Parts: sequence; C-alpha cells; structure tokens
Amino acid sequence: MCLFCKIVNKESSADIVYKNDKFLVFKDIQPKAPIHLLIVPKKHIPSINHLNLQDKELIGEMFLVAQTIAKNQGLNKKGYRLIINVGKEAGQIIDHLHLHLLGGWERSEKLKVKN
Ligand code: 5GP
Ligand code: ZN
Repeated sequence: MCLFCKIVNKESSADIVYKNDKFLVFKDIQPKAPIHLLIVPKKHIPSINHLNLQDKELIGEMFLVAQTIAKNQGLNKKGYRLIINVGKEAGQIIDHLHLHLLGGWERSEKLKVKN
C-alpha cells in the first residue's frame, strides 16, 4: 500500500487539516512555502496519467476542495499556487495523485519563487 493510502487508512499519521468523504488534506512534511498542504483523493490513482473518464467528477471536486481550503487558510484573496507533479522527471515522488496548495509568502519571498 502506498504512503498516502496508509495515511488515508490511518496506518500512518499526518497533520490533517480537512477531510470529507472523498478527500484528505494534510500538511506537507517538508514544506516549500509557509503554507504547504496536500489535497489527496482517498481513491488510489497513481498520477494524472492514470485518470479515467469516471474520475472527472472527482478531479473537479479536488479543485473545489482546494478553493475551500484556500479560503479556510485565508489565502483566497492573497493568492496561492496549485501544483500537480506528473512523473519522476517532474518531481513526483509519491505515486498517489495529489494537488499541492502553496501560499502564505511575504511579498518579497513570493517574488523570489515566481517563475
Ligand atoms: P510529489 O513530489 O510527489 O509531488 O509530492 C510529494 C510530497 O509529499 C512532497 O512534497 C513531500 O515532502 C511530501 N511527503 C513525503 N512523505 C511525506 C509524509 O510522510 N508525510 C507528509 N505529510 N508528506 C510527505
Ligand atoms: Zn495510494
């Protein structure tokens, strides 16, 4: 079972900030921003490459969860980043689909990480 499935099944711990019937949101263990959360569907889908048509509603909901979390964290007006890494060369290390939500920078910090 993959690490995120273990967290979903409560076999591994995580700092969970939100959950509903289909998603879990927890803090990234190695945050790359003052606020760095992972929005994780409970369903094991290895990556965007593995999506099926039947997952389209779930993926839509994943972005609505991101919107809710951004608001809860007070980021909706300030701004935030949503990132999905797909595959090893893009930096995906956990083969369980997840959406990174990053934010909370000071303005000067944000400029540094701007692409
Ligand atoms: P990826 O690189 O696959 O897109 O993102 C995986 C993320 O999971 C990384 O940012 C990494 O820091 C985080 N991560 C890895 N292991 C753990 C863990 O055991 N717990 C938590 N909360 N995050 C983890
Ligand atoms: Zn999994």
